[in-house]
Amino acid sequence: MNVLVVNSGSSTLKFQVIATDLDRIRQHQDDRLCRGDVEGIGGEATIRFRLRTGPSQTITASLADVAAAVEYVVRWIASDRFGLPEIKNLSDIHAVGHRVVHGGELFQESALIDDKVLQGIENCIDLAPLHNPSNVTGILTARKILGNEVPQVAVFDTAFHQSLPEQAYLYALPYHLYQRHRIRRYGFHGTSHRYVASRYRALRGRTRDETNIITLHLGNGCSAAAIKRGASLDTSMGMTPLEGLVMGTRSGDLDPAIVSVIAQKEEMSISEVDTLLNNQSGLLGVSGLTNDMRELQAELKEHNNRRVRLAIEIFCYRARKYLGAYLASMGGADAIVFTGGIGENSPDIRARISSGMEWAGLRLDATKNHEAVGRESKISTEDSTLLAYAIPTDEELLIARDTVCVTLHETHPA
Ligand code: ADP
Repeated sequence: MNVLVVNSGSSTLKFQVIATDLDRIRQHQDDRLCRGDVEGIGGEATIRFRLRTGPSQTITASLADVAAAVEYVVRWIASDRFGLPEIKNLSDIHAVGHRVVHGGELFQESALIDDKVLQGIENCIDLAPLHNPSNVTGILTARKILGNEVPQVAVFDTAFHQSLPEQAYLYALPYHLYQRHRIRRYGFHGTSHRYVASRYRALRGRTRDETNIITLHLGNGCSAAAIKRGASLDTSMGMTPLEGLVMGTRSGDLDPAIVSVIAQKEEMSISEVDTLLNNQSGLLGVSGLTNDMRELQAELKEHNNRRVRLAIEIFCYRARKYLGAYLASMGGADAIVFTGGIGENSPDIRARISSGMEWAGLRLDATKNHEAVGRESKISTEDSTLLAYAIPTDEELLIARDTVCVTLHETHPA
């Protein structure tokens, strides 16, 4: 099946076409035909794409909104000019998988989209007002162009964490706030945590029941998950993606009273404080320079800048604190898995986070850690009792696989 994977945000759109089926999923032999993204939706947009082989190419087009961007991309992929031999016209797109940010308490797993599912996604708009509307637009536009017969599947960022027990997902607030407004921990990055957990099992030849792991997704957004016997037991992002680890521009955990203190002292509205915590904090806020970890590391090496060092130290300390907390939540773990742009590519950050964790049986092998950049690899020493792995995430691949499995009513191995 040629599956178009769509991740539509309010001003950007990411897409891939992945050819896969049940056999290829079992053998981990899916075929990525192309990938690309659209930036600058709402004006003169830039569309970058790369075919399976060959260099990346860029074109520009005037795209007024998300619907226009999705329509442009779908028609472009299916056109002669695109250059994919597997896709000559619209009928060669066999299914569409959509990343949907928020599934609330309605969706525990990926769902074949019909009107009821679409209504459910719309009902979650108040939980993700910036994201779910674009996802709905992506679904409706694909349906308009490809027709009702082409199956579309929604894969939710929150679904994997629906297994959290009440003690992990409820905040210690008056209970009626949960009942009235669904204020609770949902967690995000679920597709990523689920994917690397399944790769870990595959690499070690273990079943779900035999694995208790902690996954650290460290990208621009960062989150940790405690995964016990294949199910998410706890995760660091909360009702929104703001809670938990330090991120590129998000603060992660802080004393909630600080919100009103900042509002008062800086004469800001609550929504301005919200923006500050989401967009001007984290690595960017502490360093005062950038949210980009690679740049921070280069700056630290060159100038030993104090605030850059602090930003990195706070980032790593918070991650280590979560490791300790989740070891306690799970009663110990077999392994920790690093993923996301930073987790996959930065031996230095992995080493900083893992340092001083010998008490828990965690020892990184310096050579293996150094060599594990952008590839699946065990990075702990042979005598480590808490193993460590670096495993590149691939959310789009899992979305394509879920799309195939849900369409064929098969159980997904991940
Ligand atoms: P997103 O969350 O937007 O998908 P990514 O997962 O791509 O982002 O992660 C982006 C982060 O990964 C940036 O901070 C970037 O600097 C960092 N990163 C990428 N490669 C490296 C590297 N080699 N060393 C350190 N950090 C890296």
